[in-house]
Amino acid sequence: MKLVFLGPPGAGKGTLAALAKDAFGIVHISTGDIFRFNIKNGTPLGLKVKAILDSGGLVPDETTIEIVKDRLAQPDCAPGFLLDGFPRTVNQAEALAGFAQLEAVINFKLADAQIIARLSGRRVCKVCGTGFHLTSLPPKKAGVCDKCGGELIQRKDDEPASIAERLKVYAENTQPLIDWYKAKGLLKNIDAAPSPEVILKDLKKVLK
Ligand code: AMP
Repeated sequence: MKLVFLGPPGAGKGTLAALAKDAFGIVHISTGDIFRFNIKNGTPLGLKVKAILDSGGLVPDETTIEIVKDRLAQPDCAPGFLLDGFPRTVNQAEALAGFAQLEAVINFKLADAQIIARLSGRRVCKVCGTGFHLTSLPPKKAGVCDKCGGELIQRKDDEPASIAERLKVYAENTQPLIDWYKAKGLLKNIDAAPSPEVILKDLKKVLK
């Protein structure tokens, strides 16, 4: 199964992707995770994109497309994959159509107020990367990772100014993308407000 997950930052794409990956036996590929991994490890790519991610802007299409094309050519992607965070522009979607044939594009929908509440409460472990949420998934001890005892921090792009920028960028770039996939008959809308378990059930239904 070859899928794309679309949805604003904070719609829970990452959480759903983790569930869907196991449910469908496919690989989860998040371009945001790839960039963050490279930044953390100080690779040439990481150095190139750090300021862009910190500001909430988009990494140039050329760079992003090449990374995804290389990743999809790996043998573990043969049974299927789930792209999370890519494509984000029509240009990226057109490039993707040249090297992958998708079964469906899932569009997770969530109101702005809910997105802001979700993102501003997100915390991540500085050491092991485990995610928490101040209200929906709090750590046992404030500011400390349950798994490794590392310090919990707020991603720079989850700070209010970056959230506003990310939502603006998302709306500007993604609406044309949604229209594009709709015209191709691939788009399936899913309400992202319920619990991840309920959303997974809805997802299985729309993919039948
Ligand atoms: P995400 O974790 O998907 O919210 O991505 C975090 C950041 O990585 C975004 O705000 C962008 O700066 C960058 N990024 C991720 N995916 C893409 C993409 N497909 N095109 C351009 N930039 C991207």
